[in-house]
Amino acid sequence: MSPFNPESLESRRELGAALLGTLTTKGFKLDPIRPGTERVARWDQNMPAGMVVAIYTTVEGDGASATVRGVGEDAIRVVLLYTAADGTERGLATATRVHRTGQIPAIVERTLERARECYSKGKHVARCSKCGAPLFTAKSGKAVCAEICWTKPPAQPAQPPQPKSLYVRATYPTMPIWEK
Ligand SMILES: [Zn+2]
Repeated sequence: MSPFNPESLESRRELGAALLGTLTTKGFKLDPIRPGTERVARWDQNMPAGMVVAIYTTVEGDGASATVRGVGEDAIRVVLLYTAADGTERGLATATRVHRTGQIPAIVERTLERARECYSKGKHVARCSKCGAPLFTAKSGKAVCAEICWTKPPAQPAQPPQPKSLYVRATYPTMPIWEK
């Protein structure tokens, strides 16, 4: 077996197929294909709420046409992401980049190893002392709440459910049924 050769289309296809094949076999879900963008594989099983491990594979296309990008382009990147309640995705952790050098199975195995690191980081992230959401590192370098909870009004206490009309009669005071 020869090492991955980014100048060979055949080798780029071999790595593309190996990455997508292994990741889908392991249970990662691939984002839909969008022309000109690399395939992103996500793992969301048995993760804390809102978190996924995302792998930016450098693969474009699918099936027989799946091909990793050529020379001098991005390495494979693996990150731990958190989606806030408003839909904003924030990076909680970034694994060391996987350089596409050496034997193809070894590149795939290093990618999985980085994904395992991000998966276990997800279980141990630092959390906001006010709301419990994960902390992420802001551009300022500070660790801040991924829900930006300090900008939001404090949560209102939940309202008790309204009594069902079944137990309410005209001659009977409307007493909530949970009060004895
Ligand atoms: Zn918070």
